[in-house]
Amino acid sequence: MGLCNFFKNIFGKKTCAFCGGECGMLNRTKIKGDEYICGKCDDMCSPYIQKYRFTKDELSEHMEYMKRSDRIYKEAVLAGNSERYPSATARQGIEFFDDIGMFRIIDGSRDSKESYPKEMLRYDQVASYEPYIEESEEETEDGKKEIVFGEGGIKITLAGCEDETADVRRGSRAHPYITQEITVCFAANDREKEAYLKYAENAIDHFDRIFGVNDNNPGLLRRSMSKKDKRDLAAAIAITNTVIDAVKIAKDGDGASEEKMAEIQKNMNAVDDALTGGLAEYSRRADAAEAKFN
Ligand SMILES: [Zn+2]
Repeated sequence: MGLCNFFKNIFGKKTCAFCGGECGMLNRTKIKGDEYICGKCDDMCSPYIQKYRFTKDELSEHMEYMKRSDRIYKEAVLAGNSERYPSATARQGIEFFDDIGMFRIIDGSRDSKESYPKEMLRYDQVASYEPYIEESEEETEDGKKEIVFGEGGIKITLAGCEDETADVRRGSRAHPYITQEITVCFAANDREKEAYLKYAENAIDHFDRIFGVNDNNPGLLRRSMSKKDKRDLAAAIAITNTVIDAVKIAKDGDGASEEKMAEIQKNMNAVDDALTGGLAEYSRRADAAEAKFN
């Protein structure tokens, strides 16, 4: 290949594998299999995935997945009244939707465009989360050292991430596409810092509640049971009930009624809740929402 061809290859126009449109060097991304995706089609994908890891077919499937996600947002969230935590800043934030076991990353620049699909993430896909803050030491005019706020927010790792070393939480599900840590930036300058601190605290608090982090604390009343105690007790009762039911069904030999089966399912769910620290409840809600709006 001559030098001319070499430059043509880099700077020349390419055809987008999805819409067939021409895309220049600054407006395209190479995907697996020596093909390209243009900026417009790229916007139909999650901003948290690395396109070069996927083939054309895989990305086409991913775009369908994003459309379904957008449908859940429009039909479950916009139409319903999920609990929302709007961002304190114009940058990024997290919206929590407990009633369908999902959350979403608010992004000021993406959300303003109607054509971009909204991406819903499931609570049971979260492997870990932590606040982050970037500061630097700078010298002031009179020679003093000063700590300067850079940016801050939350980092979220999803189950199935390539660098995930921590134990996979019981009941968690691998995300089908995202393999890298997600950085959600709440504040990027000093003016936003105070709002950021408050906002990050709220968001971490909410995640803690979802994942039952404080469930071992019985709360203020000494005699009351902690959430974990209650769940464990419910599981113990459920196991006993289910065993009794199973023995009865086996003895009678005429199978279980629909009503009985529903009761057994409920009991099995209680066991699931205890084993997963309450997360299974959110998994069931997310499953139901996905089934309903797909
Ligand atoms: Zn395209």
